[in-house]
Amino acid sequence: MKLPLAYYGNPILRKKTKPIEKITAEVCQLVKNMEETLVDVKGVGLAAPQVHQNISLFITMIPKMVDDEVISPGTLRVFINPKILSFSKEIWTCQEGCLSIPEFWDEVPRPHSVVMQATNLEGEIFEEEFKEFEAHVIMHENDHLNGVLFIDRLPLKRKKEIEKDLKKIKKNFSFSKK
Ligand SMILES: [Zn+2]
Repeated sequence: MKLPLAYYGNPILRKKTKPIEKITAEVCQLVKNMEETLVDVKGVGLAAPQVHQNISLFITMIPKMVDDEVISPGTLRVFINPKILSFSKEIWTCQEGCLSIPEFWDEVPRPHSVVMQATNLEGEIFEEEFKEFEAHVIMHENDHLNGVLFIDRLPLKRKKEIEKDLKKIKKNFSFSKK
């Protein structure tokens, strides 16, 4: 089942999420619904608060690319109670967008690579290093679990410039239903 999205301006996007204590049938069903939602909108990542759930969970479906060409479609990855263990000092900038902030993209500087620990849907804890675009997606989704949006990561000057655009988005999408 496709789930309704929470849009910029919705207070759930600004809340810190609660950890998941047990992977119940409800959590598995939610992941299934989030996957259907993500496929439907052709996104690469989706965090639980974006579908009105205040819990520590996100999914990704990142296609493998070589020279801007998709060589394999994204497969589903599930991150429960994720934690960033370390990140590189080196910064890598790439364009980001967010399903909760429609029709808006910008260049976001983030660490080039990051080591994340999380639990998968089978309940196993894993640790993995992500780089470049994958690292951006992982950090973007992890931010959602802490009430942070990618626009918060933009330089101050840019934030001022986009204030008007954001107001427009807030107005146009404020119908965001639960
Ligand atoms: Zn987002």
